[in-house]
Amino acid sequence: MRSANRLPLATLPARVSIREVGPRDGLQNEDVLLTTEQKIALINCLSDSGLQYIEVGSFVNPRAVPQMADTAEVFARIERHPNIVYSAIAPNVRGTERAIAANADAIQVFLSASESHNHSNVNMSIAQSLAQASEIAQLVRGAGKMFDAVLSVVFGCPFEGEVPIERVLDLAEQLVAMGAAQITLGDTTGMAHPRLVQEVCLAFAERLPNVPIRLHPHSARGAGLANVLAALQVGVDRFDASIGGIGGCPFAPGAPGNVCTEDMVHMFHEMGVATGIKLPNVIACARSLEQLLGHEVPGQTIKAGICGHLGESGEPRTQNLEPRVDAGELVSS
Ligand code: ZN
Repeated sequence: MRSANRLPLATLPARVSIREVGPRDGLQNEDVLLTTEQKIALINCLSDSGLQYIEVGSFVNPRAVPQMADTAEVFARIERHPNIVYSAIAPNVRGTERAIAANADAIQVFLSASESHNHSNVNMSIAQSLAQASEIAQLVRGAGKMFDAVLSVVFGCPFEGEVPIERVLDLAEQLVAMGAAQITLGDTTGMAHPRLVQEVCLAFAERLPNVPIRLHPHSARGAGLANVLAALQVGVDRFDASIGGIGGCPFAPGAPGNVCTEDMVHMFHEMGVATGIKLPNVIACARSLEQLLGHEVPGQTIKAGICGHLGESGEPRTQNLEPRVDAGELVSS
């Protein structure tokens, strides 16, 4: 019976939300330094593509991260759409105050799920980072902004290897107690694989059933979109992606990092999963980004084009999602 074969599809989320991280996570890992004008043009282009969430920049020490030195000016001059969340990263209280002054809608804190990675990243223990996150949370929520938390190296640490799921859940629980609106699970160095993604997400949903999970996939070893599908299959409906796929792996020069926005949107639309994003528009943003960076971006859809059957508009498929063979044929073939 054909209907039996449709069951797995029916259990997928009908719609997902994609946070665009290119302007921060992407550009921060690029050698080319964009001007403020160029960043504003990129973000305005992304705002017009139907994205609902854009990571604009970070309020870190400009000497440490020169790519992000002009984040306040970018915030002041982009065309803000009322239905888009424009977020910023704050590494400490000082950065949080700057992010609030810049009127960021959401402010993200980062915390590693491994001590070694946290030390190498921010030179603090996890306990110290948690104490600081608590201070930041109070400031952010006091200002009426969304407090957002990202856990790094959830699926493996380049220094320590495997990261215990229990530790990830303990940290998530503490961040939720501080008021985190969602927990982003970061595959910072591309060590996740589909089975692990499902194990972590299912364990998370069991411990914290009402807390939204957002997956920040990386593709250092090519498993980025496979991990997105794995998360989707266990009900995750929030994902991070980077326009053009910019932002390599911070621990492996030359290896890919962030999963490409237009590739992710294309896959979802082929599957009949809505994103609210206009595919031709994000492809146009990726093309203009190539001009700004002066090199090709890693994304694939920009090269292959939108599949013909999706049509030029690249809208999600609503028809022809019937399986082409029934279960009996699958078994016998
Ligand atoms: Zn990333």
